Amino acid sequence: MSEVSSEAPSPRTTVKRGANRAVYASDTVKEILDAGVIAHVGVNTPDGPIVLPMAYGRDGDTLYIHGSVANAMMRAGKSVDVCATVTIVDGLVVARTPFHNSMNYRSVVVRGEATVVDTGDKVAILKIINDHIAPIWDDARAPSETDLKQTLVLALSLEESSAKVRAEGALDEDIDMDGPHWAGVVPMSTTWGTPVPNADLRVDAPVPDSVSAMAETDAHPGRAYP
Ligand SMILES: Cc1cc2nc3c(=O)[nH]c(=O)nc-3n(C[C@H](O)[C@H](O)[C@H](O)COP(=O)(O)OP(=O)(O)OC[C@H]3O[C@@H](n4cnc5c(N)ncnc54)[C@H](O)[C@@H]3O)c2cc1C
Repeated sequence: MSEVSSEAPSPRTTVKRGANRAVYASDTVKEILDAGVIAHVGVNTPDGPIVLPMAYGRDGDTLYIHGSVANAMMRAGKSVDVCATVTIVDGLVVARTPFHNSMNYRSVVVRGEATVVDTGDKVAILKIINDHIAPIWDDARAPSETDLKQTLVLALSLEESSAKVRAEGALDEDIDMDGPHWAGVVPMSTTWGTPVPNADLRVDAPVPDSVSAMAETDAHPGRAYP
């Protein structure tokens, strides 16, 4: 994928409504994925379509998700077309008329065939998913063979992906500009809190640096406005 592409990678990933907010550059897609926390993954299952929230990780041009081998959605997602969406809400846009109320956001939609990762890369990819938010993998016990057997990892190429970004104030009409109504943006941010130790901690284990470093940091860095 080109780093500066201004064209959608496919007709079905071409943003139609609000096309001025579309960004197809791979760098932007990756920045949003790296700033996000949850992917909503949609799959057609024998029971019908389902969309589930899931953790994810990114390495290069590939998005990875993991789940139990017993998870119906993960099983149905093997070697079929799936869709993963990551959304970050950056603010509530209050306009002079409800028609122009909006939200500032960064979102990415990735479409394509999910493939099973069952090679020697599986452990490395599980680490990428685990460390997507903070590098916590190395501060925990490594997974056992049984853990690995119970975990299914799917890979989804970013080749067919699009980003959409809104980062500005209310866009009102001329007829409302001299009216009595307020317009503006209420910024929204999510901050990690102070780590709370488990009640069943039996040893005086120190809080890992990777965990304590999260406290009071922005969970979705990169908000562009205000
Ligand atoms: C923030 C977050 C992160 C998660 N990360 C992961 C992950 O990385 N890997 C993973 O495998 N799972 C993850 N989950 C859980 C995931 O969303 C599903 O609940 C789980 O994978 C489905 O298990 P299942 O086999 O019971 O689902 P299914 O058998 O597919 O679902 C059966 C029914 O259960 C209900 N259901 C299932 N999940 C949810 C849900 N999340 N909320 C409400 N109703 C639900 C629905 O009605 C669904 O039709 C995450 C959930 C959240 C909220």
